[in-house]
Amino acid sequence: MKIREYLENNFENLKSDLSRLVKIPSVSGSPEGNYPFGKECGKALDEFLKIAEEKGFTIRNCGYYAGSADLYPEGEAELGILAHLDVVPVTEKNWSVPPFELTEREGRLYGRGAEDDKGPLLAAMWAMKAVKECGFKLKGNVRLIAGCSEETGLELDIEEYRKREKMPEKVFTPDAEFPIITTEKGMLRFTFGGGVNTDTIIGIKGGTVVNAVPSEVTALLKGEISLSHTEGITSYFEKGNTVIVCKGKSAHASTPRQGENAFTKLLAYLMSAGELTAGDRQLAEGLLKLFPDGETDAKALDLAVRDKSGETTCVFSIIDLQEGQLTAKADMRFPISLSKAKCSEKIKAAVERAGFELLNITGSEPHSVDENSEFVRALLAAYTGVTGKPAFCKAIGGGTYVHNIEGGVAFGMEIEGEDNHIHGDDEWVSTDALLTAAEIYAKAILGILGE
Ligand SMILES: [Zn+2]
Repeated sequence: MKIREYLENNFENLKSDLSRLVKIPSVSGSPEGNYPFGKECGKALDEFLKIAEEKGFTIRNCGYYAGSADLYPEGEAELGILAHLDVVPVTEKNWSVPPFELTEREGRLYGRGAEDDKGPLLAAMWAMKAVKECGFKLKGNVRLIAGCSEETGLELDIEEYRKREKMPEKVFTPDAEFPIITTEKGMLRFTFGGGVNTDTIIGIKGGTVVNAVPSEVTALLKGEISLSHTEGITSYFEKGNTVIVCKGKSAHASTPRQGENAFTKLLAYLMSAGELTAGDRQLAEGLLKLFPDGETDAKALDLAVRDKSGETTCVFSIIDLQEGQLTAKADMRFPISLSKAKCSEKIKAAVERAGFELLNITGSEPHSVDENSEFVRALLAAYTGVTGKPAFCKAIGGGTYVHNIEGGVAFGMEIEGEDNHIHGDDEWVSTDALLTAAEIYAKAILGILGE
């Protein structure tokens, strides 16, 4: 039987597997008993292993950090497919369907995790099954690895998995988009601040997450100050003081040009409003020295670089000033020609020049895989073979699930230009895309390990 035909004949089974997984609200949380990421993630892993065992895979539970399903009972895996079972929380009132129930509507399957990443996990599992059931012989074993804590960004699941098990030499993750991502920029997050001597500025607060351009910030100024009207900035009096609310536009930290930073807009406004005393100006000037309004490429940090992986981006994303203490955070993505050490050194120097103290800095080096390796070429060929579309390697500013796995690439399964509402309301995957991805993964397995 042909792969496509097998997958079509079994598509109802794939959907029923997906509904079993979507039913479990597996938001990665804190440890509970034997479950390092909470009971629900544990349940999702148990269900995944059960589904795999029913299909004849050889299963393994890695302490509920992750689990795996091998196509053949014996032999180390040569190819690993890495997906995750945890999901992000939902705001149920914004969903038009129950988020933890798979709902089919007009060729789409709705449910949390349908696209990120339970659907892709099962597309890969059925691809493995199809290869075997259609009678193809493979030179090596294939292992599907399901982690339980991708969404936390800490990757404790993979870290633990690698301590206990051997990661296959070739790995792809169906946790991003097609065609293929071979280059991911490096990332740094830093916290800076210290004591400040402001006079008029009593407090500033804004930003909710470190990896987004902040869309709003509030400042509290001493006394009732009449300010000029500016678009996006409003002010009012409260208990004898002035509250200023400044609005910008949110965007992901890897694409800051799509947003408008509310902090730098506010600071530039305050500087031009002329109400500030020396101490206030020093603070605002210092912050603008690091993050000039409208700048997103870290030029002020002397780190503006552009190469084939893209340009440096830097976002001032969290600010908290109260009682003379400033704590601020920023997110930076840097191209492959820079290193963590070099960026850290420049950031430290710039922060100190601006009159602040660098309190903390963490991050990861860029990730890059040879675009011409046999492995990558086999994936590209599988993509084009099934879809008829041109395949190419991409570089991104975000980090995927394989960021810290040497040689790992991201391969699907979101289709470029399609918005599956990942992490949003009414997350969906189309039945077509699911079937096509399964076929691509099957062809990829054959391309890499077929005899
Ligand atoms: Zn994901």
